[in-house]
Amino acid sequence: MINIPKGTKDVLPSEVYKWHYIEGEVRKVAGLFGYKEIRTPVFEHTELFLRGVGDTTDIVNKEMYTFLDKGDRSITLKPEGTAGAARSFIENALDNNPQPTKAYYITPVFRYEKPQAGRLREHHQFGVELYGSESPYADAEIITLAKSVFDNLGVTELELNINSIGCPNCRKDYSKALRDYFGDYRDRLCPTCLERLEKNPLRILDCKVEECKEIAKGAPVVLDYICDDCRAHHERLLGYLDALGVQYKVNPNIVRGLDYYTRTVFEFVSTAIGSQGTVCGGGRYNNLVEQLGGKPIPAVGFGMGIERLIMVLENSGLSVGDREISDLYVASFESTTTEAMKLVYSLRKAGVKADFDLIGRSLKAQMKFADKCDYPYVVVLGEDEVKKGVVTVKGMKDKTAEEVPFDGLSAYIRQKRK
Ligand code: ATP
Ligand code: MG
Repeated sequence: MINIPKGTKDVLPSEVYKWHYIEGEVRKVAGLFGYKEIRTPVFEHTELFLRGVGDTTDIVNKEMYTFLDKGDRSITLKPEGTAGAARSFIENALDNNPQPTKAYYITPVFRYEKPQAGRLREHHQFGVELYGSESPYADAEIITLAKSVFDNLGVTELELNINSIGCPNCRKDYSKALRDYFGDYRDRLCPTCLERLEKNPLRILDCKVEECKEIAKGAPVVLDYICDDCRAHHERLLGYLDALGVQYKVNPNIVRGLDYYTRTVFEFVSTAIGSQGTVCGGGRYNNLVEQLGGKPIPAVGFGMGIERLIMVLENSGLSVGDREISDLYVASFESTTTEAMKLVYSLRKAGVKADFDLIGRSLKAQMKFADKCDYPYVVVLGEDEVKKGVVTVKGMKDKTAEEVPFDGLSAYIRQKRK
């Protein structure tokens, strides 16, 4: 038997309704905020994510699914959604349109991680991107959009953590302060953090190793080092969130898992799903478009993990949508199955979800099947019924039995649905 690859999951027909529900809800909210969907390829040229040397994140350095295609091109399966959207923004000259550009996506994401609860090698993200505004109003809009998704789904056990990591300019002083601080702990830092110490000490703050986390608690705080402009941006954003009544916690240890962030970074963390509690992460990336060869266009956005979101809803006893159930089962005999087929097709044409026996089972077996599948209404189509053009509709839940002519059947079911 061939098994599913490690760290991936099937979504079975019996549970896909959860995905339809969540996708429907996020599309609704994105639409209300004026965001339109963008679809970019699942794979891109590796350089899009590598962006030259110097990237120090795990996602780019260790976790990418990279391979040579048959034309010897280095290809990478999307490890995140932002870079592909930014590439498309530049390539299609979307900056020629009136700004800002607002886009959202729902995409699979691939990372070679150690699989565990809430951590997969293929997961899915709902993400949004706002290009062309440097204003903290844009940061507030992005955060509010994520918050609206959670609000609409009824999620309450959630903390918004927010920080500013400044701009490359003010980060120089901060990096120096971090190097001085962590330099004293060289013998206790993990090997990866020793490397980070040289290349990008900020990343040590994102390390998941306990010992490093412990040391990081005493590290200098970024907010003490950012420049006046970055500080003003941060404070204005907090002011707007206050004005909107959005609660948050300023958490100086948040740096996020990707190198392109500038100024705002934020995370929505749930207490309902254990240690992989970050359901949504985002922030501002003012230099990404320029780094990718575009004009200097600021951007802000987030990525929300759909699998984790489903876990939050289920663990909190919240709705994950309604199972998709058909309306009517038309049971038949061998001599009437063709008539059942004709009736079912005419009902489907009229918008009724109807089924009949495709396997040649006995009436008893058909009734058992209809019961197992929770059809709310069942009719038995015998020769008599065919002759008269009338069936008895049995309500399986409401225990009713009513005679309905064929041509009144779709109206009857639709009426019952209400
Ligand atoms: P984490 O700190 O949990 O590794 P991250 O910093 O890698 O998260 P992002 O790259 O910002 O997260 O991705 C956005 C969201 O996608 C996360 O907040 C999370 O909900 C989800 N996510 C990230 N990696 C995974 C994964 N391997 N499996 C399932 N969901 C994930
Ligand atoms: Mg990660």
